Amino acid sequence: MALKLHEHVKSNTAASHLAYQPTYVDCALNPGLGERVNERTGGCACGAVRFRITAALLGVGVCHCSDCQKASGGSPAYVGYAPNGALEITSGDVRIYRSKADSGEDVGRVFCPDCGSPLWSVSAGAPFTPVKLGALDDASDLKPSVHIYVASASPWHLMHEGLPRFPQMPPLP
Ligand SMILES: [Zn+2]
Ligand SMILES: [Zn+2]
Repeated sequence: MALKLHEHVKSNTAASHLAYQPTYVDCALNPGLGERVNERTGGCACGAVRFRITAALLGVGVCHCSDCQKASGGSPAYVGYAPNGALEITSGDVRIYRSKADSGEDVGRVFCPDCGSPLWSVSAGAPFTPVKLGALDDASDLKPSVHIYVASASPWHLMHEGLPRFPQMPPLP
């Protein structure tokens, strides 16, 4: 399925976009991404919270939902999709702000209680945990693979050319 999407992105015509409806994980999958990196570390700005991701990321999304804009101060959120169960806190305590996402799902936004850095989100229905790229110690090898919630994007948000864009969240598998 990932290969199929890869081909789709290459052709990238309006017709093929309509004909092929990838699932969320299909479009998040970024061939080659993370295959050499099976462990990543990260933390908040003040260093109180440290965490580790013990599996390759499934992909990288750019989320333009209104909640992400609140959490970021206005920009979209760049998130790496960690497989569920692969994220563990290695030091410190986090706080969780719970609310309804634009999708109607309950979502928890995890942040450091001392410095307020946004760290990751938890939502019951998703097979992955979106981790803020800014929370990782090194995200320089990563590339976005999909834009989501573009219906809520601010007019001045920049879009990466050639990436799939979804008005809300693409269908889950
Ligand atoms: Zn902190
Ligand atoms: Zn969002």
